[in-house]
Amino acid sequence: MKNNNTFCRGNYRVYTAKDASDLFKGRDLYIWGAGQKGRGFKLALNRNGFPVKAFLDSSPLLIGTEYGGVPILDPKIVLNNPKTCKSSFILVASVDKKNKEMFALCESAGLTKNKDFINIQELSPFYPTVEISGVCNLRCLSCPRGDSAHLPQKGGFMTADYYSRVIDKLIKEIPFLYLVDLYIWGEPLLNPELSEIIKINTNLGIASGISSNLNAGKYLEDVIKASPAQIRVSVSGYGEKNYEITHKGGRWEIFYQNLLLLAEYINKYQTNTIVEVYYHVYKNNLNESKQMRELCEENGFRFHPVLAMLLADHAFDYCEGKGLSDEAKKAGDLMLIGLEKLIQNGIKERHKQCLLNRVLPVINWDMSVMPCCNYSYHKLADNYLEISLDDIINLRHTHSLCVKCQKYSLHRYFNPMYYSDYVNTLVC
Ligand code: SF4
Ligand code: SF4
Repeated sequence: MKNNNTFCRGNYRVYTAKDASDLFKGRDLYIWGAGQKGRGFKLALNRNGFPVKAFLDSSPLLIGTEYGGVPILDPKIVLNNPKTCKSSFILVASVDKKNKEMFALCESAGLTKNKDFINIQELSPFYPTVEISGVCNLRCLSCPRGDSAHLPQKGGFMTADYYSRVIDKLIKEIPFLYLVDLYIWGEPLLNPELSEIIKINTNLGIASGISSNLNAGKYLEDVIKASPAQIRVSVSGYGEKNYEITHKGGRWEIFYQNLLLLAEYINKYQTNTIVEVYYHVYKNNLNESKQMRELCEENGFRFHPVLAMLLADHAFDYCEGKGLSDEAKKAGDLMLIGLEKLIQNGIKERHKQCLLNRVLPVINWDMSVMPCCNYSYHKLADNYLEISLDDIINLRHTHSLCVKCQKYSLHRYFNPMYYSDYVNTLVC
């Protein structure tokens, strides 16, 4: 059996442009999945000198449209045509269950894994995360920010200048880097330089991952003008009654108006930005999901219901026998699946890899490096610019946080996607 603290060690090969050229063998490149990952990977391929023939995507919302001058086609156009298949190399931009289904379809079209098709994360195995805003305007019940014991001592913003230095180093270390998430525990829309940061990414061929509570709208228009590939929006209810309980400190009316503005700006600037509305499902908002789904449909947003869970710091405290804060208890009472059961589900999978072993480096707004994006602030190194990716990988799995997290099997705890089938049967 593996040593217990190795489940977050990322032993992955990082492809160079030469490695990719040997793999593609001059064939036409198709990216299957025109969402955030696929769009980002197109830019990474272009940056390394590889043009993309087309995206493939089965979403009726996307077929027939284009992104960055590249058409989005129905996958059948390639897979059902043996001649096209023969001269194609498919890069699958998806994960988990969907990825398996796409691989199976490629194989039934006579294609061979790692020879004719591959998942994009084989080329770029890590997902860097940069906290550009170390400040949040909300205190959600399930989040460590809702609990003073976990609040950071100080907060601040990463400037575009510092971000630019970070991204230059990241690209050197991961040539096919295609996506950088610009948030951990902060609200990115509070950073006055967010639109500049998105432009830096876009100019380098990297998609920007943004997740917002949409309670801060001052820079929203500039941000959309900068044309981010995707914005994730988090919400828990439809109307102030329930939303303002769980998204504590948030105001429904502000959220709602900003959501409409989001649609308006995307339309005004024709940015094709994908908006994914993460609807955190609690007992009290189940019957409001229908209205949110309809609002998403009206505005061309993706509706994505997810199981609300207490975030990892709370689960960690619980395992340490520290008990839960009053806020976390309140959130726990509203959860569809209790904390104990969720921890037990993680324990059943304790021999598997950490769910976040590809999520690194995790860089804080003050340039320090953290071991993990699932927990609030812990330090691994003082300055990302002064430590190599290899050293980060080597240091992380021996960090006391990772060792303890794995001791409690919490490296398998936080995966709301596991519960998506269950949640989908409940929401309207
Ligand atoms: S869940 Fe997000 S929006 Fe809510 S307090 Fe935490 S970081 Fe802020
Ligand atoms: S702390 Fe994070 S990276 Fe480390 S084992 Fe736990 S979930 Fe994985």
